[in-house]
Amino acid sequence: LRKAVIAGNWKMNKTPAEAKELIAAIAPLVKDATVDVVACTPFVDLSAAQEAAEGTNLQIGAENCHWAKSGAFTGEVSAEMLSAMGVKIVIIGHSERRQYFGETDVTVHDRTRAALDAGLTVILCVGETLEQREQGITNELCAMQTKIALGGVSEEELKRIIIAYEPVWAIGTGKTATAEQANEVCAAIRETVKELYGCAAGDGITLQYGGSMNAGNAAELLAQPDVDGGLIGGASLKPQDFAAIVEAA
Ligand code: 13P
Repeated sequence: LRKAVIAGNWKMNKTPAEAKELIAAIAPLVKDATVDVVACTPFVDLSAAQEAAEGTNLQIGAENCHWAKSGAFTGEVSAEMLSAMGVKIVIIGHSERRQYFGETDVTVHDRTRAALDAGLTVILCVGETLEQREQGITNELCAMQTKIALGGVSEEELKRIIIAYEPVWAIGTGKTATAEQANEVCAAIRETVKELYGCAAGDGITLQYGGSMNAGNAAELLAQPDVDGGLIGGASLKPQDFAAIVEAA
């Protein structure tokens, strides 16, 4: 019943010309997908990627957006700008932004608000560091990140929220969460959404796992009852691998 969504997060990779090539390579491989397939690219690649994806089932998304509609925010891009260029989906609160660019739960909330106001769908990222996992606070932390980000989001708007559980220690490390670990935290996040919005909304929300997901481990992770999709970094840059993950979903 829940929508399965496999999304690539290209991070800071690919020039516009390379983006065009990569989309052209991925699109035919995923054309029969029964799930939603998204490629989130750097801002400068969006136009080229959109052009290459035209007429395919591949959706193009962005990796971040600012909380203001416009203004003196040098180097930032607003949700309105993304929406104006036909982008429909954006990643917010990725752990790399939290880690390296001073993103906090509050700015994640504000960016989420702006994205929703601009009509975008949000892939909201939450997840714990290794230290936090070892402290045994993973579920509480992810619940808190979820609650703060969703503050003021209406039940109607929640339909445009996907939550990606990405344990920081599993990102780009080759260290995947076990399927059980991934499912346990996704289940805790779903419980949090149920607390906030009721059972039906919690049952309806799409939850992704992200962190070293690849062609080899995707099937087991995606078979978990509370894991509805994946947010893929490294493997999303490899057409065959990405297509294999889409196939597994
Ligand atoms: P990797 O798949 O490279 O571990 O990255 C995961 C991620 O951060 C997706 O947003």
